[in-house]
Amino acid sequence: MLKVQGISTYYGKIQALKGISLEVKEGTIVTILGANGAGKTTTMNTISGLLHPKEGKISFQNEDITKLEPFQLVRKGIALVPEGRAILTGMTVLENLEMGAYHRNDKEVKQDLEMVMDRFPILRERKSQLGGTLSGGQQQMLAIARALMSKPKLLLLDEPSMGLAPLIVQDIFRIVKEINTTGTTVLIVEQNARQALKIADYGYVLETGKVVAEGPAAQLLEDSSIKEAYLGH
Ligand code: ATP
Repeated sequence: MLKVQGISTYYGKIQALKGISLEVKEGTIVTILGANGAGKTTTMNTISGLLHPKEGKISFQNEDITKLEPFQLVRKGIALVPEGRAILTGMTVLENLEMGAYHRNDKEVKQDLEMVMDRFPILRERKSQLGGTLSGGQQQMLAIARALMSKPKLLLLDEPSMGLAPLIVQDIFRIVKEINTTGTTVLIVEQNARQALKIADYGYVLETGKVVAEGPAAQLLEDSSIKEAYLGH
């Protein structure tokens, strides 16, 4: 579904990605692991069109999307939940959700609004509250729900569990798995490497802008060097 071939992305003269290749097959969950500064966020931002690679190619459903902008990619079915959530704190929960569907004019928007509020009952309870008054976990749920309002085929999640309490982290992983089970393909960057690998089908490990390991998630979970470097033991 998504094919990233040898992308190199720069910040001015600094080369953050050095020829990264990865693939996400339809219906799967793929995770990207790596230490701080390895290039995970840069990879996500390059796929979602916020940054453009200097070299390499990105294709989605066999179409070259390398030069497309974020709004064009949302229309094609790629939605990003960025690091730090970026919800609109001065707008209500409902308005935030509606923003996720701003480009849609189909009649199903109302129905989808009900569907995401069924999935996240707390958002229905708080729909008239300002986004900024929600707890961290609720804001993350709102960010995910807003992305779902664009009806993505591929959902990109950048560190969704960051800064959340362990119980909420569990919730977030359960929700990501459910979203995948109901038909959305997922690419997820996580510092909680073990939990991410548990829900994922396949994983990539980045180090200083390069893919240094990849494999089925179950295999990475058992790999002794991965365990030592990323899984705590
Ligand atoms: P983290 O988990 O800390 O977000 P990461 O794996 O997502 O780390 P990136 O944020 O993608 O890593 O950063 C990759 C490299 O690019 C790092 O060396 C970082 O210092 C550099 N970098 C990131 N953003 C910028 C920027 N805006 N300007 C210059 N260099 C940057």
